[in-house]
Amino acid sequence: MYKTKKIRIGDIYIGGGEPVRVQSMTKTKTIDWRSTVNQIKNLEDVGCEIIRVAVPDMSSAKVLSKIKKNIKIPLVADIHFDWRLAVESINQGVDKIRINPGNIGSRENIEKVVIAAKKKKIPIRIGVNAGSLKILKKSEGMLKMSSLQMAEQMASEMMENIKIIEGMDFSDIIVSLKANDVPTTVLANRILSKKRNYPVHLGITEAGTEFSGIVKSASAFGILLNQKIGDTIRVSLSALPEEEVKAGWEILKALGLRKRGIEIISCPTCGRCETDLIKIVHQLEKKLLTFNLSPLTLPLKVAVMGCIVNGPGEAKGAEIGIAGGKGFGLLFKKGIPIRKIPQKKWVDEIIKEIKKEFAK
Ligand code: SF4
Repeated sequence: MYKTKKIRIGDIYIGGGEPVRVQSMTKTKTIDWRSTVNQIKNLEDVGCEIIRVAVPDMSSAKVLSKIKKNIKIPLVADIHFDWRLAVESINQGVDKIRINPGNIGSRENIEKVVIAAKKKKIPIRIGVNAGSLKILKKSEGMLKMSSLQMAEQMASEMMENIKIIEGMDFSDIIVSLKANDVPTTVLANRILSKKRNYPVHLGITEAGTEFSGIVKSASAFGILLNQKIGDTIRVSLSALPEEEVKAGWEILKALGLRKRGIEIISCPTCGRCETDLIKIVHQLEKKLLTFNLSPLTLPLKVAVMGCIVNGPGEAKGAEIGIAGGKGFGLLFKKGIPIRKIPQKKWVDEIIKEIKKEFAK
């Protein structure tokens, strides 16, 4: 079995069989550290486990210790081009830095970053994205590369970077190879996984809006995680970062890799359905989001099914469920019918039952 090296980031570990972690990145200006802290706190509430912030300039680097002091999850500084920003971020107390050694400049500059990371015992994530490949900058013709050629190139530039850092006697490395399409991302990660066993961060760059971004990310992560490739994930979306975290959790739950929070199972409805099930499920989902019961702590399946013909049977694995009849719903627990409920009380009654489960 492919097993990666276990690496510590702040108070948690990644790789080496640890649970696949859900990450996100803030979308505030980092220098506005209060807004950044607020956004991170919101992300902590929905289950974000590692947070990355962009560090575009020295003023942003200088507020990192303030951010770090006010949050609970590990803080990662994302650096491009300037080694000084990386060194300052490390000195400010971040738990990890993300760099692309290819754009940090000379070997001496990379070495300054590595020495600082070694001193503070923090890991370095090497990120190589398809869009910033050195070879693309050299030749426009190479844009016509196939997914496989692109993936090989990404893995090869990653290996160059890894070797530079390994050559500095540093191996607390995390790698990420991202493209904006699924085949290239999958191939690049597969190629690299045969060469090194550093923990892998998975992501699709510029994945798009919620709909397409989640579909792309879920497809790529599903393939790779099934092959035991991937130790942390980020669902990059042109949307609020909370949506990225929620999507990340849904993907991991769907793959059976993590268990957390309330999972709604609902049927697609068909000609047998006697209720406005789609509306009810959305009402329930909305209510659960504002639900003050630490919904992320207890894994719980809640089924909302359109009819009593197939409903309870199809949702046997759910702790709580409801199946529609004409004007009523049959409440069931673990597939066993309990009582009838008028249609307009479905959502409230389900919430009541969930509260009972939490109180156990
Ligand atoms: S649970 Fe009933 S209504 Fe829903 S899809 Fe199945 S058969 Fe149709």
